[in-house]
Amino acid sequence: MDFKQLNLIDPILKALKQEGYETPSPIQSEAIPLLLAGKDLLGCAQTGTGKTAAFAIPILQILYKQRINSLQKRKLQALILTPTRELAIQISQSFQAYGRYTGLKFAVVFGGVSQNPQVKSMRSGIDILVATPGRLNDLIGQNLCDLSNISMFVLDEADRMLDMGFIRDVKKVIAQLPQNRQNLLFSATMPKEIAELASSFLNNPVTVEVTPAYSTVDTIEQFVYFVDKNNKMPLLIELLKDKTIISALIFSRTKHGADKIRKALNTAGITADAIHSNKSQTARQNALRAFKEGRVRILVATDIAARGIDIEQLSHVINYDLPNEPETYIHRIGRTGRAGFSGIAMSFCSFDEKPYLKDIQKLIKKEISVVPDHPYPMRIFEHIEPKSQVRLKHDIRKSETVMKIAVQGSKNIVRQKNVQFDMNPINENTKTGTNNSMKQKSRKINWYNKRRKNNR
Ligand code: AMP
Repeated sequence: MDFKQLNLIDPILKALKQEGYETPSPIQSEAIPLLLAGKDLLGCAQTGTGKTAAFAIPILQILYKQRINSLQKRKLQALILTPTRELAIQISQSFQAYGRYTGLKFAVVFGGVSQNPQVKSMRSGIDILVATPGRLNDLIGQNLCDLSNISMFVLDEADRMLDMGFIRDVKKVIAQLPQNRQNLLFSATMPKEIAELASSFLNNPVTVEVTPAYSTVDTIEQFVYFVDKNNKMPLLIELLKDKTIISALIFSRTKHGADKIRKALNTAGITADAIHSNKSQTARQNALRAFKEGRVRILVATDIAARGIDIEQLSHVINYDLPNEPETYIHRIGRTGRAGFSGIAMSFCSFDEKPYLKDIQKLIKKEISVVPDHPYPMRIFEHIEPKSQVRLKHDIRKSETVMKIAVQGSKNIVRQKNVQFDMNPINENTKTGTNNSMKQKSRKINWYNKRRKNNR
């Protein structure tokens, strides 16, 4: 099948040709005819399936036809709500690319930057708006955005909206929309809350499920390295010596972790930048641009910052930390192997993370290949408490032995059943832990012997 068989108009066909798109992806060939026929749609699709074009193309075609048949002033008719700023920018770029010959006008609004240029871009009259929910509600509250003519509404990455706590904002926006409209909802996964939200505003929707909700893209080769937590960085640096890793997106569970990885890589002479929600919007965009243009080889990101980011031909995804939600693994590795390109996903798994790996493999119904020979094989086969908890849990064990201790200021040696404080954490099984405990004991005994000698 080619795009012509989908009865697309020439201005769109011309733009798609320019983009180098020859055949529609499965979600495009399924969804486009349904959407052109005016149906509501529930799309279960993971990133990298071409879902943006699947909704952008019919919106452009419907609005284009309405516009050429009408002499009315331009009105905002299509709204796309998406969770992150990066996704909003990406979607608006797709509209610009596919709609460049339609004469339709677009704007994109998202938080973290001044609203003035965004308000200005809307004031001149637009047909399509791409927005994140928080900023859109701000603008609605200030009467700077009129949604009363919306006839097409897309809720993109609905499950992510839920994860990021945006569902209330989304519902607030939906409450502002006119009743009579076409609705689309896209979500990679379908938790209960999203299924409920979908049934609350979709009208008799057609469900399009491109790949099973929880399967990983087949073109991605997946490997796991069993490695102790403290050896993850040396292993990463060792792996990055391989020049076939042209670009890698590294995932860290926390913002702090992302910064630490970036710093360590920079110190090792590897160009790396980091994106996470504590960084300014401008810093995030600059980092992303530098990475996409190949000026920075490594981008370290948290899940929220990286969700949906489209980086053409990204060769590697590295899970520095395994995610505790198995679905997140699918989202992460979906950054590589996009639009038919092959990709490699490498995951570091410490002993503590083994249950996460088990959940991931269960979900993807696949064993991830273990890399048996690497310079930092796992040596710790026991759960280790994070430092903060260890400090609170100093093991207070009653000593079995009776120990003689000297009472300060007295020449008498008092015999007393001693409560010994072992400063080594319960689960600390490293050699140093045991050594410290031994040293401490022998220091006490030496001190006692010395006192005894002096007292004689
Ligand atoms: P998406 O899932 O919408 O983020 O799209 C993933 C990638 O696939 C983007 O880089 C698109 O430009 C690309 N893409 C979408 N549709 C097609 C197509 N029909 N042919 C080739 N590439 C496509």
